[in-house]
Amino acid sequence: MLTGSCWVLLDILNPSPLPPDAERRLRDKHETLMALLASAVAPMLGALVILFVVWDYFVDPTRVAWTLPVRIAFVALSALGYRPGVLPLGASARCIYIHWMFSAAIILSDFLLTDGFRYGLVGVVAGVFFVSLITQTTRGFLLAVSAPFALFVACAAVDRPLPELANDIVFYLLAMAIAFVLMAMIRYLRRSEALLEEELMRQATHDSLTGLLNRGRLNELAAREMALARRHGRPLAVLMLDIDRFKLVNDTYGHDVGDMVIRRLADACREQMRTVDHVGRFGGEEFVCILPETDQSAALACAERLRQVMERQRVESARGEVRFTVSIGVALYDSAHGDWDALLKDADTALYRAKQSGRNRVMLADDCLPVCAEADR
Ligand code: GH3
Ligand code: MG
Ligand code: MG
Repeated sequence: MLTGSCWVLLDILNPSPLPPDAERRLRDKHETLMALLASAVAPMLGALVILFVVWDYFVDPTRVAWTLPVRIAFVALSALGYRPGVLPLGASARCIYIHWMFSAAIILSDFLLTDGFRYGLVGVVAGVFFVSLITQTTRGFLLAVSAPFALFVACAAVDRPLPELANDIVFYLLAMAIAFVLMAMIRYLRRSEALLEEELMRQATHDSLTGLLNRGRLNELAAREMALARRHGRPLAVLMLDIDRFKLVNDTYGHDVGDMVIRRLADACREQMRTVDHVGRFGGEEFVCILPETDQSAALACAERLRQVMERQRVESARGEVRFTVSIGVALYDSAHGDWDALLKDADTALYRAKQSGRNRVMLADDCLPVCAEADR
C-alpha cells in the first residue's frame, strides 16, 4: 500500500506522458482556459489590486500618494496581456506576465509603506497560489514564481531586519512549495480526465473486438475523404470485404474461433493498408476500406493482395486449423456518386456479385466482372 502511494505521489510530481492526441487536446484546453482567465478574470483582479490602496491608507496614510501610482502603473502594464495579439505571447505566457505585474504592484506598494512587509506579507504570498492555476509545468511554475520572489527578496533585504527577513523568506518558500504541490495535483486530475476522455473517444469510434474503426467513425471519415476527392478531383476507392461462409466457421469450430478469425482478418488488413487508408468493421464479418488517392488499377491490386493474404491465413483451434477466404467488392468514386451511401452501395453490389459468382474473388462495381478469382486460375 505504501509503495502504491509512493507511485501515485511520483506520478503526481512527475507525470508520465499521455498519448500525443490527448497531450495536444489537454494543452489546447489549458490555453483556452487561460485565454478566458486573461480576458475575463484578470481585469477584475487588476481592479482589486488598485482598490487595495485603501489597505495602504490604513497601514500608512502618508505613502498613499506613492503607492497609488505604482499600483495603477503596474495594473496598466498588466492590461497589455489581457487580449491576444498585443504581446507576442500565448495565453499561458500572458497569464504569467499578468501575475508578474500584479505581484510587482503589491510588492513595491508594500515596500513603499512603513512596515509594509510586516503587515502585507500574507498578501504577497497569496499571489503564489494563482500560479497553481495558470501553469501546468514545473518550468512554467518556476518561471512564474521566480521573478516576484526575487523582487520580494531584493526589496525586503533593504526594508527588514535580518532575522525577520529570514523568517519572511522561509514563509514565502513554504507557500511556494505548497502552491507547487497544488499545481501538481490539479495537473494530475486534469491528466486523469484527459486519459478518460481519450478512452471514451476510442470506445466511441472503434470496434471492441478488432480495434478497427467502427461504422459511425468510418462514415464520418468517408464523408470527409469524398469531399476532398471531389474538391481536388482526386481518385478515391472503396473496398467491401465479407468472409465467405462464415456461418460454417461458427457452426464447425464455435463462436470463439469465429471471433479469432475476425480478429486475424482485422490484423491482416491493418498490416496491408497504408497509414492514409481507413479500415473499419462495418458489421458482423463485413469490413470496409477507404483508400484515398487510389485509382482503379491500384485499388484492384490492393483488393487482390488482400484476398490472397486472407487465403494464406491459418487460425489454430482445438478442432484443428481454420482457413478462410473473403469476397471483395471494389467501387471507385466519381462525380455521379451524390453521397457516401451511393458509393458504398456500388461496393456492396459488387460484393454481392462476387458472392454470386462463386466467392473468394474481387469484383469491380463498374462492370461487375470478376477481376481475379480462385476458380479462374
Ligand atoms: P457468405 O459467404 O454468403 O457471406 O456466407 P456467410 O455464412 O458468411 O453468411 P452471412 O454473412 O449471412 O453470415 C454472417 C455470420 O457471421 C452470421 C453471424 O452469426 C456471424 N457473426 C456476426 N458477427 C459475429 C461476431 O462478432 N463473431 C462471430 N464469431 N460471428 C459473428
Ligand atoms: Mg459472410
Ligand atoms: Mg455478411
